[in-house]
Amino acid sequence: MREISKKEIGHLKVFKFGGASVRDAKSVQNMTKIIAAHQNEKLLVVVSAMGKMTNAFEALLEKAIEEEPAEESILEIQEFHSNIIQELDLTSHQALREDMEEIYEQLVHGLNGYSSAFGYDFVYDQTVSLAEVISTKIISAYLNKQGINTLWVDARKVVKTNNTHRQAMVDWGATQAMIKSQVLPQMEEQVVLTQGFIGSNAKYNTTTLGREGSDFSAAIFATSLNAESVTIWKDVPGVLNADPKKFENTKLYERLPYKEAAEMTYYGATVIHPKTIKPLAQKGIPLYVRSFQNMEERGTVIEECIVPNLNPAIIHKDNQTVISFKISDFSFINEGHIHTIFDHIKRLDLTINLMQNSAISFTICMDDNPKKREQLRTALMEEFRIYYNEGLEMITVKNYNQDTINELMEGKEVIIEQRSRNNFQMVYKVN
Ligand code: ASP
Ligand code: MG
Repeated sequence: MREISKKEIGHLKVFKFGGASVRDAKSVQNMTKIIAAHQNEKLLVVVSAMGKMTNAFEALLEKAIEEEPAEESILEIQEFHSNIIQELDLTSHQALREDMEEIYEQLVHGLNGYSSAFGYDFVYDQTVSLAEVISTKIISAYLNKQGINTLWVDARKVVKTNNTHRQAMVDWGATQAMIKSQVLPQMEEQVVLTQGFIGSNAKYNTTTLGREGSDFSAAIFATSLNAESVTIWKDVPGVLNADPKKFENTKLYERLPYKEAAEMTYYGATVIHPKTIKPLAQKGIPLYVRSFQNMEERGTVIEECIVPNLNPAIIHKDNQTVISFKISDFSFINEGHIHTIFDHIKRLDLTINLMQNSAISFTICMDDNPKKREQLRTALMEEFRIYYNEGLEMITVKNYNQDTINELMEGKEVIIEQRSRNNFQMVYKVN
């Protein structure tokens, strides 16, 4: 047996692996290599649901609402996980099999018992959270089988939140106390593996932190544990200046100031969850974004730093709607009108991605949401003539230069264009 020594104090790291990094048996094996290379340090690993399982679990909920029996609707999900279990040679793992049976039972029970009386968001959290539980149960069994002493920790017991299902707010005091007292002592001699995205309220009902929230979970654990660093292992080489799926010749940032990274997420960059940076910045914990395929590459570090001449960051958003509110009686848009419009936007919990005003109109750009757009129109149609354009796209360029803008604008029918000292934004039609 391998001798286990007490891990060095002060070298506590948090790793996070997203769905793409654990989407199949091969990825799990790859992740295991990364963890093995760090197992002599104090290590907490946050893992999210495998592949696209969170979407698949959301779909289960829709089927439950249509009263499809859960025993049937969960078959595909079961098969997906069973295949991975088989490929990882865990089929005869008794404890894992029992865990899986119990989770599926819980899932079926919850789905078949679906009633709108519980509230959709509540049932969503109880259901979709199980994808994270399944993923971490499988991975924990595999890590142990590979000789990495791993403890599975239930994030629902230590990440405490309020009652806002699907968008729960963290109770930082309670969470930090729980993680310090329950998790930290466990890290002396083993790797701790836990889930992202999930927590629980004061009554111990499961809550979730918002889609893609496991980056944020990693930050929650890291700040509570006073970690030396957080590393997000991803299917990209680090933080790039544009999404490589949409743009060519993207460039990697080797270093990024916290502020810059946080603003990129504000404008819609999806490489890191928007809530992740703030808690880390407050504690000065650096965030590494690295490629899980090439663990020798250094990737990007986000920390307190000054980087002169940052490459322009290009952030693309699709499914945008532009709405214009016009005054019809020859008076001008004034603060009173804007106040009225904002009042309704706030009430409907809408987010404005860009706004612009002229003498007789006020224009906003937001994510497409036909239902809320209609509610907004109904609420304001007496006071304004309202026009909208949907199915548009938006690009924000941080730290722009004219060459980049010219290139991006070429051949596009631009509807709104705006620039400040550092940022350029445009909304355009999709051809
Ligand atoms: N599995 C969750 C989601 O896909 C959380 C995460 O991956 O960050 O939203
Ligand atoms: Mg995920």
